[in-house]
Amino acid sequence: MAFEGLSSRLQETIKKITGKGKVSEQDVNQMAREIRLALLEADVNFKVVRQFINDIKERAVGQEVMESLTPGQQVIKIVKDELTNLMGGSQSKIAVSDKPPTVIMMTGLQGAGKTTTTGKLANLLRKQYNRKPLLVACDVYRPAAIKQLQTLGKQLNIPVFEMGTEANPVDIAKKALEYAKEEHHDYVIIDTAGRLHVDGELMQELKDMKEAAKPDEIFLVVDAMTGQDAVNVAEQFDKELDITGLILTKLDGDTRGGAALSIKAVTGKPIKFVGMGEKLDQLEEFHPDRMASRILGMGDMLSLIEKAQATIDEKKAKEMEEKMRTMSFTLDDFLEQMEQVKKMGPLDELLSMLPGANKIRGLKNVQFDEKQLKHIEAIILSMTKEERENPQILNASRKRRIAKGSGTTVAQVNRLVKQFNEMKKMMKQMANMQKKGKKGKGFTFPFM
Ligand code: GDP
Ligand code: MG
Repeated sequence: MAFEGLSSRLQETIKKITGKGKVSEQDVNQMAREIRLALLEADVNFKVVRQFINDIKERAVGQEVMESLTPGQQVIKIVKDELTNLMGGSQSKIAVSDKPPTVIMMTGLQGAGKTTTTGKLANLLRKQYNRKPLLVACDVYRPAAIKQLQTLGKQLNIPVFEMGTEANPVDIAKKALEYAKEEHHDYVIIDTAGRLHVDGELMQELKDMKEAAKPDEIFLVVDAMTGQDAVNVAEQFDKELDITGLILTKLDGDTRGGAALSIKAVTGKPIKFVGMGEKLDQLEEFHPDRMASRILGMGDMLSLIEKAQATIDEKKAKEMEEKMRTMSFTLDDFLEQMEQVKKMGPLDELLSMLPGANKIRGLKNVQFDEKQLKHIEAIILSMTKEERENPQILNASRKRRIAKGSGTTVAQVNRLVKQFNEMKKMMKQMANMQKKGKKGKGFTFPFM
């Protein structure tokens, strides 16, 4: 897995500071030292590392105090924010021309993954954005290259424009654009030739193509496995071609991650997509924040905390937490909890943001939608106080009465009781996770 070493080292470091109720300057320095080493070992550009560490230190020492996060958590949040910034901050979307077709030029060294990614990108554009792409074969130096693209086109059922190996790439690009207009293609993706190294002849050809095709995007495809070499190549291509974005391939391999972490800072150009495997559906839009979370092993924990902070009454949350810990959680609490959570969004989605949540058994049984929520509300409100506090006493005749009173069925009442029990079980597991957390791992769940 990519980032494995970096990830585990950063997580080690973070673990030490997370639980801290007080963070001294010395703690921050210690952490910064460890992060610095971890990044250097992951082959991150040393200048990038220096800047990164300075930014973290500055923010961590001068941090303002937020009520709901512990100082340790705040420091972690800073690290996560900075890691996100390092990789570009927010997601950078693919261009859309207001005069279709949108033209994309794929460039890069030989073997970086241009041709494969050309196919993958067309597939993604069609599937995710409902586009009608055309692929263009401009690698005329190897007959096999055209064949490769045609094979991909056939697999995907996406047309490939080619003029054999005799034509000039600039002419092919021009003709392809005419053809795309006639056939109402809204994206044209041009696969170009690569070389083993950056050379003048290649650059000139790419510049000529740029001149002729006026691309909306010039993507540089780089192999993430090549680490700092990828960063150097990116700098050179960018200098010559003024690229618009990067596609990092082979992030499914065991790359240390240096390229992914340095390339934006060094070139100033965003990573737009990442290749996560050889298959044609293994290209993903790049989200810096998700990648940062992944590297730090925290799911989308922090955005969850932020979301919770924004919506949930803190005092109530504390009460809930206490109830959850002592297992004195009743159907009334359940109802109240659901009302709170409703303000935040779908519960299953929220829970899935928790690190380790996928390991919690029963999670998939706890799913609610708005309509269900209305039923649940009606059912609970049809119960006596005693029943709400102790649903075990619900026998068949009580359930019939409740179903009738709430305009639901006995099956729905049963389902609710089952969900409630699942949730209680799950809470117990979470409370346990959290208890372990007190020894230095994990976070508190302010929304529970
Ligand atoms: P090009 O010379 O730049 O056109 O590179 P190709 O598209 O021919 O790809 C070179 C090799 O890298 C092929 O074997 C691809 O299957 C492989 N490849 C491309 N992208 C990825 C990726 O994201 N993950 C993995 N594991 N392999 C990839
Ligand atoms: Mg190729």
